[in-house]
Amino acid sequence: MLMKRHVGVNIVACPLCGDHEETVEHLFVACGFAQVIWTVVAQWCKIQDMFAFSYKDILDIHKYEKRSVKWKKVVNAINITTIWSIWKARNDTVFENKEALIQRTIGEIKAISFLWVKARSKNTALNWEIWRRFDLQFVGW
Ligand SMILES: [Zn+2]
Repeated sequence: MLMKRHVGVNIVACPLCGDHEETVEHLFVACGFAQVIWTVVAQWCKIQDMFAFSYKDILDIHKYEKRSVKWKKVVNAINITTIWSIWKARNDTVFENKEALIQRTIGEIKAISFLWVKARSKNTALNWEIWRRFDLQFVGW
C-alpha cells in the first residue's frame, strides 16, 4: 500500500525465493516454494490437475471437485492450514533466520490439519494412518 502511494519504501524481495517482489499472489501462488508445497498437498489429497492462478483460486479449490460435502470441508481445512504454514515458513525465515524447508512445512501441514479435523470431527475412526494416506473412504468421507 505504501508503494502504491509512492511513499519511499524499497521493493521487498520474497524471503522464500529472493527472486520476486513479495506480494500475496507471489507468496502463496507463484513462488517456487509455494508451488512445490501445493503440488505435494494436491498429490496427498489425490486432487488431479490442481490449477491455481490466483490466491482466490486456492481458497476455492475444494469447490471445483465433485466430492462429498465432508471431503470439501476437509480439503478446505487443509488449504487454510497450507496457507497458514506458508505464512509461518515466511515469518520463520524473516524473523528467526530459519531456512524454509519443503519437508518440514509439509509435515506441519499434515500434522496440524489432522489435529484440527480430528478435534472438530465426531468420527472416531479417523486416525493418523488414514490421514497420512488420505484414505478418507475408510471413515466414510
Ligand atoms: Zn518467492
